[in-house]
Amino acid sequence: MDSERIQRAVRELLEAIGENPDRAELRDTPEKVSESYQEFFKGVAADPLEYLQESFPADSTELVMLKDIELVSICEHHLLPFTGVAHVAFLPDKKIIGLGRIAKVVEVLASRPQLQENLGNQIADAIVEGLNPKGVLVVLEAKHQCVASRGARQPEVNTLTSSARGLMEKPEYRQEAMGLISK
Ligand SMILES: [Zn+2]
Repeated sequence: MDSERIQRAVRELLEAIGENPDRAELRDTPEKVSESYQEFFKGVAADPLEYLQESFPADSTELVMLKDIELVSICEHHLLPFTGVAHVAFLPDKKIIGLGRIAKVVEVLASRPQLQENLGNQIADAIVEGLNPKGVLVVLEAKHQCVASRGARQPEVNTLTSSARGLMEKPEYRQEAMGLISK
């Protein structure tokens, strides 16, 4: 990532809103924004499938559910954060993975300019590609700063999205997973 370029752009932005980027209090702002952006967007150059390579054999085909995975992402329309939790349920097909790896896939894909709907789909597709389970369901619950602090100004609104693949597209499986999520 090009830190110098981010810093120049932030100076430009400050000037464009009528501010003086050389004002003492703003002097470190371009560098701080650059550091934040490097954290927010570290997933742009990363491959989520890298975290799904070390699977191991397992007999179980019962539902595996990871609830409340921390979710921090940046909406690609306003470059403002949306934050909340991700729930990932899958039905293994003789292959299982260290469960921290699923959280890593969520983190990598969230660390890009995103739309919540696309993010859920991308997490589901990565798990299908990397783990080939019988089914996967990804539910995201997030509050969007672009809804909270501008436009509609609805700070308490939670946006829920779900992305189902394979057997999880069937109501009976989806219901079991959704029941565990809402517990
Ligand atoms: Zn937005």
